[in-house]
Parts: sequence; structure tokens; C-alpha cells
Amino acid sequence: MVSLHRFFVPPSQISDGVASITGPDARQIATVLRLRKGDSIAVLDGSGTCYRGEICSVIRELVTAAISETVRLDTEPGVYVALAQGLPKGDKFSLIVQKGTELGISEFVAVAAARSVTRPNASPNKQARWQRIAKEAAEQCCRARIPMVSQITSFADAVGRIGDFDLALMAWEQEDRVLLSSVLRENRDARKVILFVGPEGGFSPDEAEAARDAGARLVSLGRRILRTETAAIAASAIMLNELEGHL
Ligand code: SAM
Repeated sequence: MVSLHRFFVPPSQISDGVASITGPDARQIATVLRLRKGDSIAVLDGSGTCYRGEICSVIRELVTAAISETVRLDTEPGVYVALAQGLPKGDKFSLIVQKGTELGISEFVAVAAARSVTRPNASPNKQARWQRIAKEAAEQCCRARIPMVSQITSFADAVGRIGDFDLALMAWEQEDRVLLSSVLRENRDARKVILFVGPEGGFSPDEAEAARDAGARLVSLGRRILRTETAAIAASAIMLNELEGHL
């Protein structure tokens, strides 16, 4: 089913052997992809099941497909990794959500760090757009679940969640001894991990201290200073590879 167009559909819209697709996905099928009756698509219920379906009807806001095959996807990582990203400028967060989804991140926390230029109330529908990007990226890379993207969160609230995780890390460019990869190798059994990455201006010393006081390990990503989006994407790949053994 990897070659089929894939769409996440609420489980309530999959019943009696028929999947019903509505809204933007139905419009995309009808007017962008111009799929027709008899064409095959893959429908994902967001909890790990993928259905192959043959389209029965295509109306602008509603597409129905008769289910012909059901498979369980094994594309979710065995470790839950949350990326707490200091909100960067422009559209970098969208890139981080897209690439992090492909790499296996399970949750994105948009953090209004002290040096984030974008302010929390920038635009309330940013989260909806980021969540849509996560959905589209999850469909493209054939994930079983769509990662969650939070509303913009204060640094204090994000740090307040550190106790919910087995392992908390902060990528801190002033750390020159403890490497991310070493800490991950020491904590291979961690199953719920959060990583903080700063915005373009980095985290403030107070933020680094607050994260450490809350139990986060400050780690280096190496000898070069990476752009925030590079750091987020590279650290995501390192974490999934070290904790999962592969991407
Ligand atoms: N204020 C920093 C500077 O110019 O020295 C730049 C911050 S960097 C562009 C953005 C974020 O990426 C940092 O807050 C950190 O989370 C992460 N980062 C980049 N390079 C890193 C490194 N070598 N080690 C640890 N974290 C790094």
C-alpha cells in the first residue's frame, strides 16, 4: 500500500467495510488528484491500522471507498520522543515539524523561549497549520499515527512537564563535554524522552539553569554551532537512531 495515496480518517468514518472521507482530503481526491471510482487509496485510522479501499463514489465534499484489505502498520517508533522547540523565526517550525514527523518524533511542543522572536499570540491558527503539516507528513511517510503539535507554550510550562518523561535533555551550545549520543547510550531503556532545542538566539542561561534544576541533562550536539532547524532535525535523527537502533 506504500504506493497508494494515503489519508488519515477518524475511526468513526470507517464502518461496515466502507471508509468515508470528508473535507479537505475529499476535495484533494476529487479536484487535485482527480481520482475516480475504482481507483485504490489507503485509509489510516490513526491507531495503527491501514485499509486498502476502492473508491465507490467521489463527490466534492465526500468520497467513499469499499475496504478490500486491512493491514497493521509497524512504522511507529517504540520510543516516544517529544521535541520542545524554542519557537524560531519565519516558517522554520513547519520544516521542523515535517522533518521530525518523518524521523519519528511523536510530539512537538512550540515553546515561547525568552529569545524567541515570534510571540505566543502571533496567530492562533498557527497550531492548526502545523498540525496539518504533521498529518500530511505522516501520510507521506506512512506513519501509523499523527504526531501531536501543541499550542504555543511558555518555557515554564514546557519545563514543568519534564517530570512526565523518563529522560529530559536540553541541547545547550555552551556544553562542551557531555554529548547527546553518550547520554542516549547510557539511557537506552528510556521510553519517553523530551529534548529542548533553542531558537536562533539560543536559550538564556536562566532557562538552561531552570531546565537543569527540573532534571534535564544539558548536552552538546558537537563542536559546531548548528542553526536551530538543523539542530532540531539532526538531534531528532540521533535520538531515534540511538534509542530505537534505527530510524
Ligand atoms: N546562541 C547560539 C550562539 O550563537 O552561540 C546559537 C543558538 S543555535 C542557533 C540554536 C539552538 O540549537 C541552541 O539553542 C541549541 O539548542 C542548539 N544547538 C546548536 N548547536 C549546538 C551544539 N553544538 N550543541 C548543543 N546545542 C546546539
